[in-house]
Amino acid sequence: MARWLKRGAEPEMVASDDAKVRATVEGILAEITTEGDAAVRRYSEKFDNWSPESFRLSRAEIDACYAALSEQTIADIRFAQTQIRNFAQVQRDALRDVEVETLPGIVLGHKNLPVNSVGCYVPGGKYPLVASAHMSVVTAKVAGVKRVVACAPPYQGKPNPAIVVAMDMAGADEIYSFGGVQAIGAMGIGTASVAPVDMIVGPGNAFVAEAKRQLFGRIGIDLLAGPTETLVIADESVDGELCATDLLGQAEHGYNSPAVLLTNSEKLAHDTIAAIERQLQTLPTAPIAGKAWEVYGQVILAADEAEMVRIADDIASEHVQVMTRNPDYFLANMTNYGALFLGPLTNVSYGDKVIGTNHTLPTRKAARYTGGLWVGKFMKTCTYQRVLTPEASVLIGEYCSRLCALEGFAGHKAQADIRVARHGREAA
Ligand code: NAD
Repeated sequence: MARWLKRGAEPEMVASDDAKVRATVEGILAEITTEGDAAVRRYSEKFDNWSPESFRLSRAEIDACYAALSEQTIADIRFAQTQIRNFAQVQRDALRDVEVETLPGIVLGHKNLPVNSVGCYVPGGKYPLVASAHMSVVTAKVAGVKRVVACAPPYQGKPNPAIVVAMDMAGADEIYSFGGVQAIGAMGIGTASVAPVDMIVGPGNAFVAEAKRQLFGRIGIDLLAGPTETLVIADESVDGELCATDLLGQAEHGYNSPAVLLTNSEKLAHDTIAAIERQLQTLPTAPIAGKAWEVYGQVILAADEAEMVRIADDIASEHVQVMTRNPDYFLANMTNYGALFLGPLTNVSYGDKVIGTNHTLPTRKAARYTGGLWVGKFMKTCTYQRVLTPEASVLIGEYCSRLCALEGFAGHKAQADIRVARHGREAA
């Protein structure tokens, strides 16, 4: 039976369990619906103290962002985007269109079609999340999305140059400097200056996630990607210092970011707890990471690997880092996770920033029903059908007629009957 050496508070919901957040978002979206750009500007002023002449960046402003970066930074962004693009392209190529003759004369198929226009939200409240620009814009473009709108809130009083460059390099067609609910509302509802998009993707704080949730239906969304969470599964093949680094490396996302150690070694558990205390003395982001660890951190001692899989599936964490003698056991047996990081040579940070898999991932147990953002999220799988012969039309028509009668659908039945009557003669 598993034992908790440290218990954490129940993590916050991604969105919508907080009535105040729900009401705030509802109010802002209603004002954007009636007032458009004026409401967007009012809330940008209120929450971000930001009211530029135009929220959309001009070519000259984008070029100035390139000029503000070092050659090394530009090369680093290009390298990261190349990795993400290459993997997304392989995933795109694996999405096959299908056409098959299921009965003589009956042809069914599907095509994978990209969504026409997408809004990519890049968070920027606490940290300028440059990598989120690669994750959504690059992937949307690989999917074939024609119009990609990208936005991020101002960071320290102005558009963050590295985010803007990442958006531009990734192929964004329009770049805006606004954030929060006002950004989601502008893109999702549309205003005089921002044409509405068909779908909004990207992570964000509780307000951003709740705005996406409230607009879902009117537009598509990728998933609700809320406060980052991480689960480290480890045995004595690694040391406490490494586990502590990997836990705090994710806890620094925010005071509400849960970091959990799941182990079958009591020694490793105690070593990790001690190493976390030590590392918090010097980590520059300790005020956030330390708070997150204190409130939400957990250390769970399990009997064996099978129990670790059961507990990990129940937690359904966004990130699951496996540092055991046989990490592939977890790949073979786990069913609920946003992304797996197998073995001590990799880690969540590689995935978050550069290795090539997507970092926009399901949180707060959403991994039970969805994976993260990927090229397939930007595609619609749309079916079509053809009936090639009168005989095939009559065959299906006779079944269809009886099944329509069963449901009382006279109009549907007539659609079948007229074809059976006309083509029955031909077929005979
Ligand atoms: P953000 O861009 O999501 O939010 C900043 C915006 O919040 C501001 O522009 C402001 O308009 C709005 N805001 C702030 N206070 C408000 C209030 N009181 N009322 C209404 N609006 C308000 O940036 P952030 O806050 O740094 O959050 C980013 C989040 O994204 C973090 O929680 C991080 O963990 C998460 N994240 C998740 C993933 C994932 O894949 N799950 C990936 C990266 C980041």
